[in-house]
Amino acid sequence: MQTALIRSGQFNIGHLCSRFQCELGLGGKTALRWLGAHEERVDYTFSDLERHSSRFANVLQRLGFSPGEVFFIFLPKVPEVYFTFLGALKARLITGTLFSNFGEEALLDRLGDAGANVVLTRHSYLKKLLRIRERLPSLRHIILVDANEHQSADILSYAQLMKNASDDYETPVTPPETPSVLHYTSGSTGKPKGALHCHRSVLLQSRTAAEVLSLQPHDLYWCTADHGWVTGTSYGIIGPWSLGITQMHFGGAYDAAKWLQILEQYRITIWYTAPTALRMLMREDPALFERVDLSRLRHIFSVGEPLNPEVISWARKALRHDIYDTWWQTETGAIMITNRPGLAIKPGSMGKPLAGVEAAVVADDGRVLPDNEQGNLCLKPGWDAMFISYFHHEDIYRQKFKYGWYWTGDTAYRDQDGYYWFQGRSDDVINTSGHLVSPFEVESALLEVPGIAESGVIGAPDELHWQKVVAFVALHHGCEWNSDLELKARLHISHQVSPMATPQEFHVLAHIPKTKSGKIMRRVLRARYLGTDAGDVSTLDI
Ligand code: AMP
Repeated sequence: MQTALIRSGQFNIGHLCSRFQCELGLGGKTALRWLGAHEERVDYTFSDLERHSSRFANVLQRLGFSPGEVFFIFLPKVPEVYFTFLGALKARLITGTLFSNFGEEALLDRLGDAGANVVLTRHSYLKKLLRIRERLPSLRHIILVDANEHQSADILSYAQLMKNASDDYETPVTPPETPSVLHYTSGSTGKPKGALHCHRSVLLQSRTAAEVLSLQPHDLYWCTADHGWVTGTSYGIIGPWSLGITQMHFGGAYDAAKWLQILEQYRITIWYTAPTALRMLMREDPALFERVDLSRLRHIFSVGEPLNPEVISWARKALRHDIYDTWWQTETGAIMITNRPGLAIKPGSMGKPLAGVEAAVVADDGRVLPDNEQGNLCLKPGWDAMFISYFHHEDIYRQKFKYGWYWTGDTAYRDQDGYYWFQGRSDDVINTSGHLVSPFEVESALLEVPGIAESGVIGAPDELHWQKVVAFVALHHGCEWNSDLELKARLHISHQVSPMATPQEFHVLAHIPKTKSGKIMRRVLRARYLGTDAGDVSTLDI
């Protein structure tokens, strides 16, 4: 695909994921196998994708939207998400996606910052939008996927618009640097910022879908990520469809038995998911896994948060598979550092940089650090899927580049074999008596303590030590917190990590707060601990 694309100069993601696949003879192949929460199942071919997305591109054009204007999708996983995502990209609008559980403030932060011009949503979410509408002066139209008729001059019915639109849309040749997808970063640090990508990203998204996720023409691939998160678009839409791969999308919520049933019944061959989901599965009755036939599954990949070694060893037994951890970010647009079939896994490590991606561990003063020293995880700018801006915040974008590197905000070290080991976010590192403690390291070790199912660790102010280590834990069903278990946990951390890293306090919660994409929200734990306002918690899943 790469060569064809470079030769034609047509980088349009919408075109490449639909019309281009039809031109390659895949029009009749299933592109999307959509499974609703209530067992509804619909298959859409690549010709269907082409038809629906072209219609939507025509709808946007007819409504007067022009390239560079901003379209947002505010919906759960329904088929219209995929048609309109591709259609808006064909029409060269900047296309943003939102988690469907966002509240008003979260919506306002994002839609307001981006200057959204048109939003696709459904009736049940309309109230939220209407309540903030006055503060969104650029918003010209709201389109409802579940309205049969137009509601007013500017609240329109998707069905009516699509009914009257033509199937024919000749996507203009789209140069690679044309802005494409907009994702607001999770908000776990500071105000959300909109990472803006360009159509060139498809080069790396398709390459990694082939080289890392190992997708092959006969695969049935399932990416469980929501489209509100970059994984849901880069690898739940763009990468696989640019390769003509059939994808499963499930519109329901997490449910262990259901997920296993999908894997088995639909014969999923490649599964891309997140550590939290795997850890939730780990808590299930082992007998459940003995009954399920996963013989069709070739590989499991994971992303979004550290993958604890114990999850890998559990999966080897319970799922009879390795889990390949992949590291990347909203800003990188595609997988950067990764485990992959053919590369020996060191459990707990994120793997090695992708060929062509230069990573380094850099000190605050810009020095590249030697192996086994912890520092800032940086990437050499210029990879194909690199974000091109924080939309409307060029100044913050520029701050991410220093000493010739892009600063990821993560800390890591590289071992003597070239494997990278995630240590934490640079802003979450705990400094206790001048000793740097990675919350991730403590969290990970706490999971090795029998009885502890989830953990979250923060640094809290301490008069003597500047910061102290505070641990929040959630217990396995039927386990009880008592002084014995606390002592065990303290000793374990003291031995496994360091005495300085041993939590001085433990707090037991029913669940550790996490974002929808599975990241522990230490900000929320910190606020809870300090009794302050946690800020925007609309991305909270649990
Ligand atoms: P997001 O931009 O929301 O996808 O978050 C990206 C951040 O999630 C990274 O900077 C890391 O802090 C974390 N992250 C993503 N993948 C991994 C991974 N495989 N291991 C550890 N942390 C990860």
